[in-house]
Amino acid sequence: SNKPKIVVLGAGYAGLTTTRRLVKTLSPEQAEIVLVNKHNYHYESTWLHEVAAGTINPNQARVMISDVVNPNRVRLVYDSVVEIKKDEQRVVLENSELSYDYLVVGLGFESNDFGIKGMAENAFAIEDIDSSREISEHIEYQFAKYNNDQNAEDHSLNILVGGAGFTGIELVGELANKVPELCKKYDIDRSKVRIINVEAAPSILPMFDKELVAYAKKSLEDRGVEIKIGAAISECTPEGFVVGDDKELIKAGTIIWTGGVKGSSVLGKSGFELTKGKVNVDGDLRMKGEENVFVIGDCSWVWNKEADRPYPPTAQLAMQEADVVAANLKALISNQPLTDFVFNDKGTVASLGHSDGIGNIFSGYKIQGKSAATMKKVVDNRSLLLLGGPKLVLKKGKFRPF
Ligand code: FAD
Ligand code: NAD
Repeated sequence: SNKPKIVVLGAGYAGLTTTRRLVKTLSPEQAEIVLVNKHNYHYESTWLHEVAAGTINPNQARVMISDVVNPNRVRLVYDSVVEIKKDEQRVVLENSELSYDYLVVGLGFESNDFGIKGMAENAFAIEDIDSSREISEHIEYQFAKYNNDQNAEDHSLNILVGGAGFTGIELVGELANKVPELCKKYDIDRSKVRIINVEAAPSILPMFDKELVAYAKKSLEDRGVEIKIGAAISECTPEGFVVGDDKELIKAGTIIWTGGVKGSSVLGKSGFELTKGKVNVDGDLRMKGEENVFVIGDCSWVWNKEADRPYPPTAQLAMQEADVVAANLKALISNQPLTDFVFNDKGTVASLGHSDGIGNIFSGYKIQGKSAATMKKVVDNRSLLLLGGPKLVLKKGKFRPF
């Protein structure tokens, strides 16, 4: 047919939202829509620290794509993208190939270890369901074998987390809840377990003001998390992190890197020009110099003109970008002018385990404690509502009381 073909890569917040918007705004006669994703499910990346700590079941954090996208309307291709050949308007998948008229790249993030020696080989990272589930299973195994292993070393129960940005802090918050449960289950004294969060910068969570940072730090320390600031990790060995100028080796049976993320490695393999691992896009979210390629979510940098720096990549940003991309695709197809993306910042909330948190909402209003934890659950349920309506919220939503 001569209908234009729109191919969306990735069913994360960016790609899935784009696809659902396209279905709403375009008639089946106006365009063919194809959605490509590695798995037949979408996952809530923003819940992965809970999967990694073992405080939620991995299935709660994932949604079958065919439950939220009509397969009769959108062609669903479950395969891995290997390379994008934009000069040929083709996408190479592991098992096939696709051509496109319009492309939306929403392949998301990967862990970034900045080439630190031994990190890739020796540390876990939170990247998707499989890698996060492996962490919780590994931790539980350390506990399960401890009392039954004559040679078990005390540090085998230690959990080391490298990087105290959002992901690191939210992870140790969950671990602070999970470790006492595991101690009880496996008859282990809580004092045998250390949760250690190592951060190079002089503060944890630099995006929050001092008061909220102090609150978060105290909440975590009160629950037995050790926070080491101003401690750069220079190497990861099979035993632990090498930290600081004096090259102290901190040992642990579980080593997790949460020190940063970058865009999908497909971007580099496709020869795209990258800034810190991501593609710079124009105001209308198209790759610079390209007519028909949009790059959104954690694969791109979108400039915040007011602050003169890129927006920090978040799920909130990715979903809002998706709305603009869908509208711009419709405009392109019908020869209308494109619109520029404007971010509507609804605020930020970080959880500190199940019943605590900190946040900045409604431009500048600070929250902490149970109200922040409640707000975080509202945000999580809202994300499900946007992706799959009230039915999905009832099925996967967060309602467990404190
Ligand atoms: P992703 O969510 O990474 O989705 C990418 C999709 O593409 C996935 O479905 C993946 O399977 C698929 N894919 C990847 N590679 C391929 C390939 N080669 N072939 C085929 N398919 C592929 N942001 C917030 O706003 N609020 C939060 O509270 C928050 N909490 C977070 C907590 C954690 C633990 C983490 C790690 C991140 C958090 N973030 C949060 C950031 C947020 O998760 C990301 O900004 C967001 O996921 C980006 O969305 P995306 O659609 O670009 O990518
Ligand atoms: P990040 O880049 O925000 O934080 C990484 C941290 O690791 C930084 O504090 C950095 O100083 C530290 N670090 C880096 N190298 C180090 C080293 N060698 N030694 C010690 N420390 C080191 O990464 P992230 O926390 O994975 O977050 C990624 C993105 O996801 C961000 O844009 C964030 O806003 C978003 N996110 C948001 C939320 C939320 O809104 N609740 C939660 C998680 C993630």
